[in-house]
Amino acid sequence: MYRTHTNGALNQNNIGESVTLVGWVQTIRDKGFVMWIDLRDRYGITQLVLDEERTSKEIFETARKLGREFVIQAKGTVLERESKNNKIPTGAIEVLIDSLEVLNDSKLPPFTIENDTDGGEELRMQFRYLDIRRNPVKNKLIFRHQVAQKVRNFLSDEGFIEIETPVLIKSTPEGARDFLVPSRMNPGQFYALPQSPQTFKQLLMVGGMDKYFQIVKCFRDEDLRADRQPEFTQIDCEMAFVEQEDVLNVFENLTKSLLKEIKGFEIEEFPRITYTEAMRRFGNDKPDIRFGMEFAELNVEAQGKGFKVFDSQELVVGIAAPGCASYTRKEIDKLIDWVKRPQIGANGLVWVKYNEDGTLKSSVDKFYSSGDLQAWADKMDAKPGDLLLVMAGDKNVTRKQLSELRMEMAKRLDLRNPEEFAPLWVVDFPLLEWDDETNRYHAMHHPFTSPKPEDLDKLETAPGEVRANAYDLVLNGNEIGGGSIRIFNRALQSRMFDLLGFTKEEAQAQFGFLMNAFEYGAPPHGGIAFGFDRLVSILDGSETIRDYIAFPKNNAGRDVMINTPSSLSQDQLEELHLKVDLNDKNEED
Ligand code: ASP
Repeated sequence: MYRTHTNGALNQNNIGESVTLVGWVQTIRDKGFVMWIDLRDRYGITQLVLDEERTSKEIFETARKLGREFVIQAKGTVLERESKNNKIPTGAIEVLIDSLEVLNDSKLPPFTIENDTDGGEELRMQFRYLDIRRNPVKNKLIFRHQVAQKVRNFLSDEGFIEIETPVLIKSTPEGARDFLVPSRMNPGQFYALPQSPQTFKQLLMVGGMDKYFQIVKCFRDEDLRADRQPEFTQIDCEMAFVEQEDVLNVFENLTKSLLKEIKGFEIEEFPRITYTEAMRRFGNDKPDIRFGMEFAELNVEAQGKGFKVFDSQELVVGIAAPGCASYTRKEIDKLIDWVKRPQIGANGLVWVKYNEDGTLKSSVDKFYSSGDLQAWADKMDAKPGDLLLVMAGDKNVTRKQLSELRMEMAKRLDLRNPEEFAPLWVVDFPLLEWDDETNRYHAMHHPFTSPKPEDLDKLETAPGEVRANAYDLVLNGNEIGGGSIRIFNRALQSRMFDLLGFTKEEAQAQFGFLMNAFEYGAPPHGGIAFGFDRLVSILDGSETIRDYIAFPKNNAGRDVMINTPSSLSQDQLEELHLKVDLNDKNEED
């Protein structure tokens, strides 16, 4: 037996017991006549002690050869510590050792295995197995496991069955690029890795499984952003014989139970707002509603007063930043520079100081009386002391820019409290989205999402106005999940593919399997998928999903530890019937 206890287990109740411990050497303190070794494992740290009077010379000799991260086994007796450390569970005891064996030695690690390490991101990723020994990383992985367990239990209790779907599949059109896998046995043919198990979970409903879930890896070959990973995990679900309300209820309850059990946070019903309303009030389909600063549209109040910059614009819209009337000119100028950066791309920003004494001072005093400005302030529900920030331009563009500014002001004002949770449902998304580049409509969610029955007659005449039975769960400004009630009728699915510009042959070749299945008694069905990595990180008060993934990819989509993606040998390429010019630029890999 390697050990009798873990390094987090022993306390005053064990005093006098003989124990065997194993673990990694965290620190060694050598005072000559007495030595302490902190022994670490996943469970904690236990202090080992050697002293001249009671410990043999051989053990001292072995101990003096130890280095950080050596793997050792120590046997000894649990003693009460003289100076106790009440910060750790084992802080009241130490183990006086009478046997010490080195199970494996270790090179000096390239960074310290401490909560605050000296290792930079790149180095820690390269030696991720050492990084995982550090508490902050280890604890996040444990936290992830706990959330996964709770999700599994909740859904199982609700009657959902976990079913695995294949990883080598055919393209699923979810809007991103597929990762492709060449087939050795079928020259020139490829599998795709699933962007989600969408079509399979629908087929499981046709198969009568009624309620399905899976905590599942999905793959999307997208340009990477800071919080995106090319492979990520979803809590994927589907239910038969349900309407939107049924799906929302189950997943609202799941979210509530996670918030309650994990964060002790109780929330009544989640607000529901339509996509149109979300865009109008927050300029964003995943609004952070932990704080106010809602949009106020000022076209009526601000246009036709001689201020040309506003007059010709589609939308004039503003927010009131609480308590910011005290901003200096310099601070305001900086804010203007911030919105003019290419990332935001605004032309400028009109400001109004609603001073504590009730007076109003603005950058456009030439054009507007204080009565005019007061009307703006009223529309924004502003209070004396607030700074009104107003933008104008094309509706969609301006809303997006003001939304960025709203989030930035919330950050500066510390209004994005990670310990507060404000979930909501955004419903009634448009079915389609016009894409200027390809000059055609795309499915906003995916092509299997059903249109609202009352909008069906507009499908061919005014496709842009058709609303979908689609919904998103938003938490603290992040999209946590999205889903829809599906099409389950072949004719309608076929109409949808027509709209999306598929020829009958293309639709049949790519989705024939699904449309055929719809002809064999497909039940009405719908579902949702939660982004598991993001859910876990938000529940833990962080927005960095990478920290919650054991072996994440970096911003360039690389795993720097195993150094992949990497080149293949000419033989491998030939076997896969691939021609790659190896003189291309990949040589350095
Ligand atoms: N497959 C969808 C997604 O990955 C979720 C769903 O519609 O259930 O976003």
